[in-house]
Amino acid sequence: MSALSDFAAALASGAISVIDLTAPLSEATPILELPPEFGQTQQFQLEEISRYDDRGPAWYWNNFHTGEHTGTHFDAPNHWVTGKDGADIASVPVGKLIAPAVVLDFSDRVAADPDFLVEIDDIKAWEAEHGPLPDGGWLLVRTGWDARTTQESAINANETGPHSPGLSAECARWVAQESPVLGMGVETVGTDAGAAHSFDPAFPCHSYLMGSDKYGLTQLQNLASLPATGAVVIAGPLPIVTGSGSPARVLALVER
Ligand code: MN
Repeated sequence: MSALSDFAAALASGAISVIDLTAPLSEATPILELPPEFGQTQQFQLEEISRYDDRGPAWYWNNFHTGEHTGTHFDAPNHWVTGKDGADIASVPVGKLIAPAVVLDFSDRVAADPDFLVEIDDIKAWEAEHGPLPDGGWLLVRTGWDARTTQESAINANETGPHSPGLSAECARWVAQESPVLGMGVETVGTDAGAAHSFDPAFPCHSYLMGSDKYGLTQLQNLASLPATGAVVIAGPLPIVTGSGSPARVLALVER
């Protein structure tokens, strides 16, 4: 048997299962909110063209309106000024859309502190137990934030701004510049912490990852169903020519 027929047989037998890491897309899907002086991304919206009616008696279809960075989505290098000469979302090599992934679980610490920031030492401690981060793979950060499916709970803002977990600036720099991963995936609406507007640099995950030709995945769900190591992630952004990102169907393959 070939490797690929072995793989197909493992899918059919359930030896490999497919886990959906994607948040459902609807008008209720939480989106990033920037300070009001900046442009804003748009909520996902369906616009009905016809539904078995005068506009189209035998067919139902919609137009949809959305930001590139709405819902579970893929950040391309050109999303940030540090990566402005880097790949657009259509130019991300397809070979990078299927990659191994590890899951670092910080949900206990985030439950105690929604502003929790992962530090380099946290990743080193994980590596001491599980081995090195995967070369050319994803670093997936589990925080428990996927339970927050409403706009208000996902943003978690008060008078001091949004409060959600992420990486410290130094940790973001290390992941982007020193670790071998191709990108980082999170459960929050963006890869940066809610308070990252005031970090140095501002939005360090975006700044360092995009500036290092790396990628981001956001609003992932079901990371709790993945092993710490050994999953393979399939991320499918739309090839929007010149685009900075795209909603993506993100799946994980897990061996039972
Ligand atoms: Mn984004």
